[in-house]
Amino acid sequence: MRINQNYALSLSLATILVMAGGPGALRAGEPGPDADPKIWPLQLRQDMTRLANVAWKLRKSAGNLCLGKSAATGLTFDYIGAYSDSDGPLLRQVLGLTDMPQVAAVVPGSPADLAGIEVGDDVLAVGKVSVSRIGESADDSDLLADELEKWLAATPQTQQIELLTRRGQNERVVVIRPVRLCATRFVLKTRDGKKAFSDGENVALSTGMIRFAAIDDELALIAGHELGHVINRDREAKSIGERRRMEDRADALGAALAHCAGYDVWRSADFWVRYHKQDRLRWFRVPTHRSGKARARQLKELQVSLTCPVALTN
Ligand SMILES: [Zn+2]
Repeated sequence: MRINQNYALSLSLATILVMAGGPGALRAGEPGPDADPKIWPLQLRQDMTRLANVAWKLRKSAGNLCLGKSAATGLTFDYIGAYSDSDGPLLRQVLGLTDMPQVAAVVPGSPADLAGIEVGDDVLAVGKVSVSRIGESADDSDLLADELEKWLAATPQTQQIELLTRRGQNERVVVIRPVRLCATRFVLKTRDGKKAFSDGENVALSTGMIRFAAIDDELALIAGHELGHVINRDREAKSIGERRRMEDRADALGAALAHCAGYDVWRSADFWVRYHKQDRLRWFRVPTHRSGKARARQLKELQVSLTCPVALTN
């Protein structure tokens, strides 16, 4: 299949800072020989939902540490144009996708949830602007879901959003009052093994990484680490020593963000032991992160002294 480009963040390789993962085998849409071929769209939905929920809490917990804030609704969209034509019938059958962008995830308690929007609702227009017109402003019309999310995020402060939605045969206008959260976008990538990275503005996690995180506390630790890089404005390091200091700082800030978002750092710290174990050659390729055991130990030591709200230490 053509991979779900909808969530393939257009990060240029030159700007990618931190490759936290190694080559992995998992690719969305490529189930094993015994797997039910209908399962992959549902798995992908589960990945999108987990990431959306964790990202929401982390963006909240980051408070004013982020460089900017954007309008947050709690909505994640999916769009059939991002998939290959041959996947179309399955996606229509399993997910109920139509030719319009569909609500793929709604964060519980978010403005969209409070407004009554549900997973499976189609979105036809934002205010007086049809979604097809919004699609015209995208570089690639297949990326309509992505463009719609950016469009909503750019809603000016104090302005409410009127979405024309469709559920079954019923169209209705839903009014959403967005909240302002840390502007960092969290994006799902379907291609790249077990990876997490940031580009100074966005955070991207692969489906392989999301599935390797057995519990959301672990997912929050990984995503928090990358958000830590964004907040710390980490750039190209001049030496391995400097890079390591950046990684330590991102681990510490990420743990604080996860803790203040309600996740259990103690419970999730051993993730790095498991993660480094499954890719033993990793250290030779990326000698900038400490060993899994050292990272887990540091996080557990740190966990005792974490306070909220999160404050930058340097
Ligand atoms: Zn890092």
